[in-house]
Amino acid sequence: MKRKRPNPAAELHALAVKIHSLIYKVGDCLVWRGPTRRGQPFVKLRHERVDPRRVIRELALGPLKRGARLRVTCNEAMCCSPVHVTETMRSASMRLLRLVDFSGPHWLWRGARFPSGHGRAFYTRHAERAARALYRCFVGAVPEGCYIKVKCGVDSCVNPLHVRAAPAIGPLGLKRKIPTRDEVEKIRRAWKDGEKTNAQLAEEFNLSPSVVTRIARGTYRVGRKSKDAR
Ligand SMILES: [Zn+2]
Ligand SMILES: [Zn+2]
Repeated sequence: MKRKRPNPAAELHALAVKIHSLIYKVGDCLVWRGPTRRGQPFVKLRHERVDPRRVIRELALGPLKRGARLRVTCNEAMCCSPVHVTETMRSASMRLLRLVDFSGPHWLWRGARFPSGHGRAFYTRHAERAARALYRCFVGAVPEGCYIKVKCGVDSCVNPLHVRAAPAIGPLGLKRKIPTRDEVEKIRRAWKDGEKTNAQLAEEFNLSPSVVTRIARGTYRVGRKSKDAR
């Protein structure tokens, strides 16, 4: 059985007609009288809710920039007039700070978490620990081979003044060091030459044998840190 494929242009036209039947002209404004959810107007497109203000704005002035949000500039919160709705970009730092609880001296992370319980944030494209993301955003690049250590004792604190970049070697001399790019190159070369065993390389570079194996097989993600670093 062949299903009819949706025609995007026809769908958009039908949506525009539907939206027009739900807005009323009040002065200069086009006020939404359709359904709302949490104070925001919406209209159903297939099974998704879309913002009628966005639809009208995009029909009138083209697609919004990636990551842009809408802001109504007139006094009518439900206004859909494309002239009264502007697009604003939310900066990366604002995105991060929105998820922080500033009620005390510690900045508590309210956003998503990794299964390990550490805050999970996006500053650039990759997910990383929230404390690290805020450090990179407000302090600067994390030095190579370092991780972000929370020094105030509050696990979910992401205050950049309460953390420091510490060399990534675990307690009791455990081999948890993060290899530098240079070391990764050296290990790969040594592995190709085949003169040293995995255990010898692990010993030499102060890494665990499993990390050495992953580096040699090319499954170790290297360069992510350097790419992120600003
Ligand atoms: Zn208006
Ligand atoms: Zn703190």
